[in-house]
Amino acid sequence: MSIPSKEVRLTGRPQGEPTPDLFTIDTVEVGDPQPGEVLVRNLFLSVDPYMRGRMNATKSYVPPFEIGKPLDGGAIGRVCQSNDSSLPEGTFVSSMFGWREAFVAPATAVRPFDPQGAPIPAFLGTLGMTGLTAWAGLFKIAGLQDGETVFISAAAGAVGSVACQLAKAHGCRVIGSAGSPSKVSFLQGELKVDYAFDYHDGDPLKHLEAAAPEGIHVYFDNTGGPQLEAAIASLQNHGRIALCGAIAGYNHPIPGPRNLSSAIGKRLKLQGFIVSDFFNDLPEFQAEAIPALLSGKLISSETIVEGIEAAPAAFLSLFEAGDRHVGKLLVHVGD
Ligand code: NAP
Repeated sequence: MSIPSKEVRLTGRPQGEPTPDLFTIDTVEVGDPQPGEVLVRNLFLSVDPYMRGRMNATKSYVPPFEIGKPLDGGAIGRVCQSNDSSLPEGTFVSSMFGWREAFVAPATAVRPFDPQGAPIPAFLGTLGMTGLTAWAGLFKIAGLQDGETVFISAAAGAVGSVACQLAKAHGCRVIGSAGSPSKVSFLQGELKVDYAFDYHDGDPLKHLEAAAPEGIHVYFDNTGGPQLEAAIASLQNHGRIALCGAIAGYNHPIPGPRNLSSAIGKRLKLQGFIVSDFFNDLPEFQAEAIPALLSGKLISSETIVEGIEAAPAAFLSLFEAGDRHVGKLLVHVGD
């Protein structure tokens, strides 16, 4: 028996902003799992900025996407046919076999999980790699301490919205930036950050000086660009920056911060990181995050678009300022 599965394929490599014509949607037949394999129907697909980097043919920490092949990406699915006793039918699994409706893979290539009563989409966002990224960046990379002041850019997005809440839960003063007035309202009203601003509203340093006249201790950098420069100017001596992402330069690389040399005199620490280095910490993170989410102390924000056909436009929207999504951007492809 085989089932039809739609998948999103890359047709070429973007120059600058990615465009809709870079994607096609094709249907393939997915066959029976062989011994040791499972057939999984995806429920939700993750839409992530790092996928832009994989569209370039450059060497990086993950190989580039191949032209004409389906895009890989984070996904949550359910085993619907099993040829491996370790993963019975009905098991929830997370995988990197996203951007397709169904797939067959070795049982060892997917990660089973028990939702423990938490909403399934949260396992691609707040309770999954996104949340782990926020947690690792704040505490493992920047060494955020209770009571410190932390600035978080792209704060209304997937990683940023979790970072804001984790930092608040640890008694920190949180400054968050985002790209529209309604996202600023979300930061103030839902996430209860101490100071929120729209980074289009003048020099970001003006806001950091207003929010923290004595300077910040930590910057969680999701954007690079002008906000990184402002954070370097604001940081106190021995401040730390967790370099998580640099979305301001993904389509058009931009020069580094002009004031980088001040990191010497201020004894700043700037450290990049990749969440996959912290996969072993996922159980520790989830042990903190799942009870917090179930008790309402941690809000999981998602924007969910419907159907695999919506995935390319959702991806393109990551690079557009505005109100297109708050929290984690997901595509719903099955039940
Ligand atoms: P996200 O924040 O949910 O979505 C990206 C957001 O970036 C957009 O919604 C937009 O929000 C903002 N943005 C787009 N262009 C911008 C620009 N030119 N200047 C400033 N902001 C801009 O995405 P995410 O998944 O949470 O990822 C956030 C960052 O973390 C990305 O840079 C991503 O590459 C990185 N990341 C790194 C790791 C890692 O392992 N190091 C893991 C996951 C994610 P506004 O409307 O607010 O502008």
